[in-house]
Amino acid sequence: MAAVNLKSLSSKEIIEFFNSFDTVLTDCDGVLWMEMTPLYHSAEVMNTFQELGKRVFYVTNNSTKTREEFAEKCKLLNFKASEENILCTSHLAANYLKNISFNRKVYVIGKSGITKELEKVGIAHCGTGPDPMGNDLTTLSIEKDPDVGAVIVGYDEHFSYPKMVKAASYLADHDVHFIGTNTDERFPTSKSIVMPGTGSFVRCIETCSERKATIMGKPEPYVADMIKQKYNVDPKRTLMIGDRANTDILLGTRCGFKTLLVLSGVTHLEEVEKWKQSTRQEDRDLVTDYYIDTLGDLYPHLQK
Ligand code: PLP
Ligand code: CA
Repeated sequence: MAAVNLKSLSSKEIIEFFNSFDTVLTDCDGVLWMEMTPLYHSAEVMNTFQELGKRVFYVTNNSTKTREEFAEKCKLLNFKASEENILCTSHLAANYLKNISFNRKVYVIGKSGITKELEKVGIAHCGTGPDPMGNDLTTLSIEKDPDVGAVIVGYDEHFSYPKMVKAASYLADHDVHFIGTNTDERFPTSKSIVMPGTGSFVRCIETCSERKATIMGKPEPYVADMIKQKYNVDPKRTLMIGDRANTDILLGTRCGFKTLLVLSGVTHLEEVEKWKQSTRQEDRDLVTDYYIDTLGDLYPHLQK
C-alpha cells in the first residue's frame, strides 16, 4: 500500500491513522508556513497532536536561524513548540562538531544562525559576511588561517568566488572537516524565477574541493538518529510529514517511518505517480505512504 489520499479514508480509518503513531516529525517551510505566512490550520493540527500526547519535532533544513530563533518564530505563528522540539541544520552542525570534541576554528559560508550556534557551544569561527570581490586573483585575500579545522557550508546570499577559493583551499587538507547543512536544490517560488538553495552552494564547494560534504539535514538520517537516541522513538509508530520528497519523504523511508506528503509545497502528485510506476528503487523510496492537500485539512478530523 502506498500513496493513499487521506481524504479518501472514512472517519474510522482516519482515527486509526491518528492512533497508528505517537511521534511526529514535521518539516517546516511548505508544511507549516511559507516564509512568514502560516498555512491555514497547520498550527491547530500540530498543537492538537501535542494535546493528544504525541511527541512532536519540528525538523527544518534551514540554517539561517538558531534553534532559539525558530522557537520564537513558532511562538509568533501560534505553534506550541519549544527549543527542545526544534532541529535546524545550524544547530545540528554546531552539535556535530561539539560531539567530536572539535577544538579548532570553523570557516563558515553561511549566516548568523550558524555562527550563533557555534558560539553557544564555544567554537570559534571566521568567514561570514560579504568578501571584497577582486577583478583578478591577486586582489583576493587568500591567506589561510592555520587554526581552521572545519568548513561549514550553509545558505549564504554573499556566496562568492573568494569564498570558493578559501573553502577549497582549507579543504585541500583532508584533516579539515567538511560539513554541508543541507542539499535542497532550490527554494519553491510561485513566480517564473529560480532561487538556488543551499544544495547549489554545497555542490559547488564539493566540485572545487574534490570532496564530499557530510550533510546534517534531511534526508541524511543523522537528525533522525539524534531524535531516536535521545527520545527512544519507535520507527514503526513515527510519522514524518513533509512537502519535499527528496528530503522529507526519503528521510522517512530510510528510517522506517510512516510518511505523509502535503501538496502545499515543493512536490506535486504527478511526480509521485511517476515514481510509483518506476522500477528504480531510488524512485520508489520517494513514494509517500499518505498524502493530503494541506496539513490543515486534518483539523476537522481532530476536532471530533
Ligand atoms: N534553507 C533555507 C535557507 C530556507 O529558507 C528554507 C526554507 O525557507 C529551507 C532551507 C527549507 O526549510 P524546510 O526544511 O523547513 O522546508
Ligand atoms: Ca519544506
